[in-house]
Order: sequence, then C-alpha cells, then structure tokens
Amino acid sequence: MAGTMFKQKFHRGIGLISAAVIASMIISSCGNAAPKASEKLSSKLEPFTGTVEHIFFHPLIVFPQISFPKSSKGGYICDWFVTLDECNKIIAELYDRGFILVSVKDLYEIRNGQAVKKQLLCPAGKKPLIISVDDVNYYPTMQTHGMAKKLLVKDNKLVSLINVPEGGEKVLENSELMEVVDSFVAKHSDFSFNGAKGIIALTGYNGVFGYDTHKLKSPTYETEKVQAIKIAEFLKKDGWEFASHGYRHLQEGHISAAKLEADALRWRNEVEPITGPTQYHIYPFGDIIRPEAPELSILMKYGFRYFFGVSFNSGWTEHGSWIYENRIPIDGKYMMGIVSGSRNSRFCDIKKVIDPMRVKYFMN
Ligand SMILES: [Zn+2]
Repeated sequence: MAGTMFKQKFHRGIGLISAAVIASMIISSCGNAAPKASEKLSSKLEPFTGTVEHIFFHPLIVFPQISFPKSSKGGYICDWFVTLDECNKIIAELYDRGFILVSVKDLYEIRNGQAVKKQLLCPAGKKPLIISVDDVNYYPTMQTHGMAKKLLVKDNKLVSLINVPEGGEKVLENSELMEVVDSFVAKHSDFSFNGAKGIIALTGYNGVFGYDTHKLKSPTYETEKVQAIKIAEFLKKDGWEFASHGYRHLQEGHISAAKLEADALRWRNEVEPITGPTQYHIYPFGDIIRPEAPELSILMKYGFRYFFGVSFNSGWTEHGSWIYENRIPIDGKYMMGIVSGSRNSRFCDIKKVIDPMRVKYFMN
C-alpha cells in the first residue's frame, strides 16, 4: 500500500471551474479572546486581498543516512519527503519572508449550509499561509526509513519515538513537523495568527500517530485508542486541526460510489472518534472528485465541506456549499525540480535549504 501511496496526481484544471455565488462578506479579525502576543507585536491589522497559499508536507525524514541509501534515485522516499534539516530551514525561511500561519477557518466559514468568504485581517506586511502534513499515521515503510514510528506527549510536549541508526528506538524532541513548528512559534509568536498551526491529514487503515487504532478486535485496542485520543487532544489544544485523508488512501476520483461510501464510513467509525468531527477532506494522491460527479455528495453526507487537492498553482474555488483549494507540495521532487532549474520557489531558497544528504545521494 505504502509503495503506491505517494503517486500524487496533480490536477491543475480545477482552477478553471467556475465559482458559485460568493456569499456575503464577513470579517475575520484577530479572534474573540484577549489579544495574543503576535497581535500585540503587530502594529496594525489590514485586510489581506491576495491569494492565501497552502503548502503541504509529509512526515519528516529524521535519519536520511538510513532513508536515502534504501531509496533508489526517483524512489518514493526521496521524491515525497523532506528531511528534518530541510524542514527546520524551510520554516525559518518562511518566517524570514514574512509568512504567517493562518487557519482555513480564518478565510471561510459554512453558514446556513453555504460557504461564506471572510475578510481576513492580517498583521501589516505579513503573507498568510496554510500548511498541512499528510499521512501522520506512520506506515511501516516510514518506520524503516528513518522516520518516526509513534507520537508521544512527554512533559507536556509532543515528542517522537523513532528507530535510530545505531539500532533500537529512542524518544526524540523536535523531530517531526508539528514539533518543529511548535518550537518555532514558541520563539517567534508572530509566525502564527491567532494561534493557528496547520492541518494534519489522517488515513485510518494503519492506525493513527503510530497507534493501532485499526485493530478493532485486538485486546489492546481500547488502550491504543485512548493514547491516540490523548495525542489528538494535545495537538488540537496546540492549534492543529485535522482532516480526513480517506480511510485507505484510495484514488477517490476513480473508485465506485460503493467503495467511496464504505471508505468514508470506516473513517467516521475509526478515526473521527479520535480526532473529533472535521469538515476538511484532503484527497489522497490529489485525486479529486470532479464537482459535477454524484460521488461528491457522499463525502458531503459525511460532513466534509472543504476539499483540498494538489497543484503547483495556488487557488481557491467556491461552489456554493463547499470550497476547493489547491495545495502546493513541498517535497523531494519540488526541491529537485528547483535545483535542476525547472522551477522557482517563493517559499524558500532551495539551494540553501536542501539537505547535504539529498545532494550526496541524488544530485551527483
Ligand atoms: Zn497521502
């Protein structure tokens, strides 16, 4: 399953779909509670009228010295993942370039069954950005390729359990994307608007966060589920949101209605009790269901109203009762394309952030 999981399909045509009626504008300002540090720091808030971009990652390669030798050139590890070192530098560059993390809910809300655009008031000079991280499930292939195998909360901090190069496993801090972002925001509160962090997309077929929440008949099922809920609650409190990524990571644009329904039902039964309800659905492989396809009503029935695909071009389209947005992949392919000169990045200087290990194994 994991071997084919990352055959991302890019759907640039979605941006051409005509938008439905934009409902009345409402204001999304700095929240309802007392001002946070980031707001105090900003001199003033001003309406943001540009396109809010959305980039996405996968779980991080912590030990590229394990991962890359196992991955042949063009293999899925080097193609679809970035390393911890790269992620640390990318986050710092995003901040230096004036990006600030926002939530999708700062931009749209579903009101009386209709998607309503909000006017984002953003700290002056900042560029709002959404980030998401897919497949925070820790599939077996990830665990053997230098990535985390499980998330834990230790001393009120998110940490990762990882197989280490010297053998055995260790609990490490600041080794997964959520931990990197949390630590960065702790030092730079003006990198987060209203405490927003990002969206975590989960499947269910291999459990979540490294816990076996898919083994319903296991004697340890309840314990695993309780631990996974603890992680989800911690992340939510910390500003992270959750999205469905389908239960089995299927090509949803190409499967039967019955298969889609069964998949959505399993996600609701096994993952939603852990994350709580969500209106976000991130299409596996970026394989979208076309707006006119009847299958879309199945996902709507399960409560999803915000749908996300993959493209190198940012863009939102409004469809009356639901919203679609493109996400830009920040992964090995993205970086290799830029280094080879076929692409530019407005998010970071790839030549500065690329991991020396990636250069060593794949650029020579
Ligand atoms: Zn995925």
